[in-house]
Amino acid sequence: MLPVRHEMPAASPLIFDPDKCIACNQCVDICQVDVLIPGPTGNTPPVVLFPGECWYCGCCVVVCPVEGAVTFRHPLMNQVRWINKEELTKSDH
Ligand code: SF4
Ligand code: SF4
Repeated sequence: MLPVRHEMPAASPLIFDPDKCIACNQCVDICQVDVLIPGPTGNTPPVVLFPGECWYCGCCVVVCPVEGAVTFRHPLMNQVRWINKEELTKSDH
């Protein structure tokens, strides 16, 4: 039997800190597109059930009463740092 994996999927738009989250589920309730469901035991962070449906609106992060309990992970294509051609040709590179 395969071990059960509890970590977030690589494409998850949110990262929960289980040491900070108080499992109040305010983030679950405010999400307009039902990306999240409550944690399985009632005292664990919510589960990102439909990561592909996230709009990255930020409501879940803003409503959370505990700073750092949930943070954004922006899509990989939005994490790219574009460099101007002029910067690449500077002598300090
Ligand atoms: S960022 Fe918006 S759409 Fe995505 S999970 Fe949070 S509340 Fe839902
Ligand atoms: S709102 Fe914050 S503290 Fe409450 S369940 Fe969501 S991440 Fe955890």
